[in-house]
Amino acid sequence: MLRIEQLRKSFGSTEVLRGIDLVVEPGQVVCLIGASGSGKSTLLRCIDLLETVDDGTVWLADDAGSEQDVTDPRVDVDAIRRRIGIVFQAYNLFPHLSVLQNLVLAPTRAGGVSKGDARTRALALLDRVGLADKASAYPDSLSGGQQQRVALARALAMDPEVLLLDEITSALDPLLVGEVLDVVRGLRADGIAVVMATHEMSFAREASDVVAFLADGEIVEIGPPEQLFDAPQDPRTAAFLARFRA
Ligand code: ADP
Ligand code: MG
Repeated sequence: MLRIEQLRKSFGSTEVLRGIDLVVEPGQVVCLIGASGSGKSTLLRCIDLLETVDDGTVWLADDAGSEQDVTDPRVDVDAIRRRIGIVFQAYNLFPHLSVLQNLVLAPTRAGGVSKGDARTRALALLDRVGLADKASAYPDSLSGGQQQRVALARALAMDPEVLLLDEITSALDPLLVGEVLDVVRGLRADGIAVVMATHEMSFAREASDVVAFLADGEIVEIGPPEQLFDAPQDPRTAAFLARFRA
């Protein structure tokens, strides 16, 4: 679905991604873990073309299996972004629009979907994230967990093939983290490839197919969660994980 090869990105003279290789299969959940500043957000932003990359390629496969280099300057950025959803730590819902309007906006404006169809799909997605009764509510009347579930539903409303999640639970009251992670867990059945930067180690262990540990702009170690958490091969991985076991 997604194949990243030797991705490099610098800000000024600081190289923050130093040759990232990563393959994500359809339906896989890949968690990116690592200290603050290790490059997780920059990697996600490069995949969604919110940052220009300095070197390397990001291949995105279509249904027929043919791959497109999304970093090619001739690429249609809007067309690529329609295939990739992204949700950030801050909810970023449009405050002046109702929950339903938040979900209908992009599919009707950018996705070429009729208002009626977008509405039907939006209501189904709200049901799925447990917020069917909040369709006409405004974002500021919702809890953080509810807002983040709306943000997930809004990303899904564009029917993305890849979903990028950047610390979507970091700003939440611990009591509300679970309800958001439950929605992510449910995505596995859809065949959407999910790449998620997270500090929720128990979630990464139990719900991901692959965990990648980043340090200083490199993937130091990558593998199935059992391997990474129970038998880390690199001392830097072990040291990072030890901080969560205290
Ligand atoms: P993480 O998400 O793992 O915390 P980031 O990708 O946000 O890491 O940041 C990686 C490094 O890149 C950090 O040193 C950060 O300060 C730097 N960085 C991120 N965005 C910018 C930017 N727009 N300009 C300059 N430096 C940046
Ligand atoms: Mg980050």
